[in-house]
Amino acid sequence: MKFIFADSLDYVDPNYDFLTDRSPPEREIYWDDVFPHELLGYAPYDGILVSRGIVGGMFSGKYSESQAMRFRRVGAREFLRYHEKDYPNSLVFGDCGAFTYHKMTEPPFTAEDTVDFYGDGRFTHGCSVDHIIFAFEVLSTSEEKSKANSNLPGDIENRRRYELTLSNAREFLERSQRLGNQFTPVGVIQGWSPLSMASAANELVSMGYQYLAVGGMAPLKAHQIHIVLDAIRDEIGEKPQLHILGFAKADQITEFLRHKLSSFDTTSPLIRAFKDTRYNYFMPSDGKKLEYFTAIRIPQALENNALMRLVKEGAYSQEDLQNRESTALDLVRAYDRNEAAMEEALDAVIHYNKALIFGRDNGLTDRDKKKIDAVRERTARTLSARPWKYCDCNICQSISIDVVIFRASNRNKRRGIHNLAVYGKHIAQLESHPLNDTESEFQSDQSAAE
Ligand SMILES: [Zn+2]
Repeated sequence: MKFIFADSLDYVDPNYDFLTDRSPPEREIYWDDVFPHELLGYAPYDGILVSRGIVGGMFSGKYSESQAMRFRRVGAREFLRYHEKDYPNSLVFGDCGAFTYHKMTEPPFTAEDTVDFYGDGRFTHGCSVDHIIFAFEVLSTSEEKSKANSNLPGDIENRRRYELTLSNAREFLERSQRLGNQFTPVGVIQGWSPLSMASAANELVSMGYQYLAVGGMAPLKAHQIHIVLDAIRDEIGEKPQLHILGFAKADQITEFLRHKLSSFDTTSPLIRAFKDTRYNYFMPSDGKKLEYFTAIRIPQALENNALMRLVKEGAYSQEDLQNRESTALDLVRAYDRNEAAMEEALDAVIHYNKALIFGRDNGLTDRDKKKIDAVRERTARTLSARPWKYCDCNICQSISIDVVIFRASNRNKRRGIHNLAVYGKHIAQLESHPLNDTESEFQSDQSAAE
């Protein structure tokens, strides 16, 4: 099972100065920056996925106009500095990024210009042009029949998107033949229920697709995804290859092994470094499960809108907040060098976090107190375990405790890249020592992903 990292220009500045929180003045964004595989010195993933919706071009994406033009001109590998000679057998997946245009009546891309996009980008795999269906219900066969005849606007719209996705897939498969054997077309499944997705899968296989991608899974719970995959496998058997698009339950991957997936793409190990309230830093535990630590929140006071609002309102002086910030940073780093006690560092972090979380120090309700106690407990766990000392990745080795400090993109993304490294090893281990069912069930109960 291949782990494909969905990139969204996730580079960092290798020359960032963590003490002054600055990049060198001469830094050129992108050109002087490094992608995760460059920073780590190896690729923790088997491939990279680039969404057309992120590149933009036809409508605004995340890439600048000149980046989008360069991407098309030099191809994905050159753009991502992910050359085949350095990363043998690696894959470059493309999809349209249906989430980025879900509000539009029609996808902004045609099958023909998407084939051009994959051809220019020299992708190894590319998904057909799909249109996302957000509704999801587990339906019985009779409920399924009544949906098929229903005149409710939602049902009509779902059927329209379903048909559109399939007709695009048919056209895409034909037109993609001009890209030759180097390219694998991937047919995207969209549906409103396990049965409708299974029948979409069946149609795609009849068209001639040998590789299918299941779309619209990101908002679903793990047990719902299992029902979908079971329904699809029941319909098409074990032979066609399956990919899950935007798999947000990446750390529950062990329980998905039984579906015989060929690949999945995710960005979640990276994103969780800064979007999750608790599970920000990944560590291998006993080789079978991951362990998670909470990052230590010490944001830049002057860059933080909520804190600056408090200054305007007169709740705190700017000087007070900056003092709390620098004291917390200094003490946490001193703790890392064994020059300060943990409690001292912890007190300083909590002192700053009170302003951050509540906007006041006094008059905390019982609920507030519980909340801050929980933050204190999670922060203490991270500090006392010092997980960064046990990680041999380039990042933890070079920036030490700064990797667990929740502060500005250069730290937060580095923590995310460390997570990718831990996650990549986790996946590789699963492949060589798959868990038995009892263990994976136990693990799903314990999982932190929900
Ligand atoms: Zn690390």
